[in-house]
Amino acid sequence: MAQVGLDLLLPPQPLDRRGRAGGAGLPAEAWTRIAFIEQPTCPGCSLPFEHDMGGLACPACQARPRAFARLRAACVYDEHSRDLILKLKHADRPDLAPLFARWIARVAPELLTEADALVPVPLHRARLLKRRYNQAAEIARPLGRLAARPVWPDVLVRRKATASQGGKSGAGRRRNVQGAFAVPEPAQARVAGRRLLLIDDVFTTGATAEACARTLLRAGAAAVDVAVVARVREGPDLTI
Ligand SMILES: [Zn+2]
Repeated sequence: MAQVGLDLLLPPQPLDRRGRAGGAGLPAEAWTRIAFIEQPTCPGCSLPFEHDMGGLACPACQARPRAFARLRAACVYDEHSRDLILKLKHADRPDLAPLFARWIARVAPELLTEADALVPVPLHRARLLKRRYNQAAEIARPLGRLAARPVWPDVLVRRKATASQGGKSGAGRRRNVQGAFAVPEPAQARVAGRRLLLIDDVFTTGATAEACARTLLRAGAAAVDVAVVARVREGPDLTI
């Protein structure tokens, strides 16, 4: 995992138009602390490898294939990236969304090229009303523009107001999202036969991405890939 060129990390224009946190957006050290994920990584889950494994997947991916085909993550989910992601989530910094989109575009070019459309992980309507916006959709929109791909925020809905995933075990998270997602009837024809790229901010146990991918596949999608801003450093939790 190495730092990439500063031109990719620093926004081309001041991020912070409200003048907080310094003239050019966040202080430079906020960006340099981000642990960007570099190759080699597991092709299945983007787990960083110490050595090139010749295209082989990590043991967890080999042991249990997941519903989604490939995952790409721009950086490691740690206290530094969490800080920025929470700022976007709580609507303090909606201007971070296009920056995150550029990070994802950099690590997932082939996933974007091959995708028929981008699908943000949905929020439940009640939470959307409370929070006013869905951070996954906020990232998907500029990403779709960057990659010239349509964004379909309406083909996947969260029909269960699931409790927060925070503090839950892998099995608890899977139970939590079971049956939580659906493809509305009018959207099914659009999904059928398509290769979709699911967009989210964070990948932890993978329970949410799994549930979304399974739902889209069941509705007839040809394949589902996943692209996120940040993933945990460990391999996916595959305990049943
Ligand atoms: Zn893997």
